Amino acid sequence: MRIPIVDLGAQFKAIENEIKEKINEIIGSTRFILGPNLDALEKEVASYHGIPYGVGLASGTDALHLSLRALGVGTGDEVITTPFTFIATAEAISYTGAKPIFVDIDPLTFNIDPSWVEERITEKTKAILPVHLFGHPADMDSILSLAKNYKLKVIEDSAQAFGAEYKGKKVGTFGDTGCFSFYPSKNLGCYGDGGMLITNNEEISERAKSLRNHGSMKLYYHSEIGFNSRLDEIQAGILRIKLKRIDEYNRKRRDKALIYRERLKGLPLILPEETPERYHVYNQYTIRTKKRDLIRNALKDKSIASVIYYPLPLHLQEVYAGLGYKEGDFPESEEASKEVLSLPIYPELTEEQIEEVCEVIRKTVGK
Ligand SMILES: *Cc1c(COP(=O)(O)O)cnc(C)c1O
Repeated sequence: MRIPIVDLGAQFKAIENEIKEKINEIIGSTRFILGPNLDALEKEVASYHGIPYGVGLASGTDALHLSLRALGVGTGDEVITTPFTFIATAEAISYTGAKPIFVDIDPLTFNIDPSWVEERITEKTKAILPVHLFGHPADMDSILSLAKNYKLKVIEDSAQAFGAEYKGKKVGTFGDTGCFSFYPSKNLGCYGDGGMLITNNEEISERAKSLRNHGSMKLYYHSEIGFNSRLDEIQAGILRIKLKRIDEYNRKRRDKALIYRERLKGLPLILPEETPERYHVYNQYTIRTKKRDLIRNALKDKSIASVIYYPLPLHLQEVYAGLGYKEGDFPESEEASKEVLSLPIYPELTEEQIEEVCEVIRKTVGK
């Protein structure tokens, strides 16, 4: 049985009528940009987080980029983040002219290890950018306390963690902004590119709204050089339908993670942990093993998908050679990149499918 890494078709089937109706309605209305669905979605996402402002953007990358800009980060500044993440996290910093400063991860959670942050803070440091990687919340208490002591901004990369919680509070609500991606394979995904930033701060929200629309708040009057980065009506309409179901989708992901844990326990693998006081949403189910490539090939032989997120940490990427990092600088990130393997996980994944994945893994590493 072919098992994909995500199955967007299965999810679509369950909401097909509602989605098609919505798309038809929007096409009929001929309002495609900055219309009522975006307005409503921004309010709904903000209210879901118990926070006043949401700004819909063209992508998660833009949510990070425009957050940094709205917070005044620019040329000559430094922003501290993790090298074990998707490139967009660091790219957004580079777009502003600021420099990404990496610190290593906690190998248990794959999130930034706050104990390394303080020694990297300089006069130039403007912000800390934690990533809630794979849907597991980062250690926000430590990050916020450092930010407070050194007067730094905090931008949360919540692209993989819509609905995840830290100490009972949703991620994305701790920092100056929280950034989401609605890329189709994310746990809340649209049918194209999309993103949003959320914030408690009206000024930041207004600034981001101007930046996403050519530096303009009043039609054809421009106060700064901005961008074209709006979340379109069709994507917003689709997201409104899926947002109503996000808690159910996340619950189902958690159920699948539990089943994986049961079926894989006792094997020489490190399974993903939900550390105390976290609500993990398992955007990825990522195991660690020295036999990663063996397992990956065995799964492939059975037409079961698996993905390596991420095979090369950012400090070793060609594009960042100029930052002057070298192999050995961040041993936990480097080790993780050699051992991680993400298995299929999505709300519609069946117990039989999970059993099939686990059977292949048992046969490969068992005994
Ligand atoms: C997906 C992702 C992004 C970028 O989101 P896009 O919508 O693809 O631009 C940023 N950071 C992380 C951790 C991501 O997984």
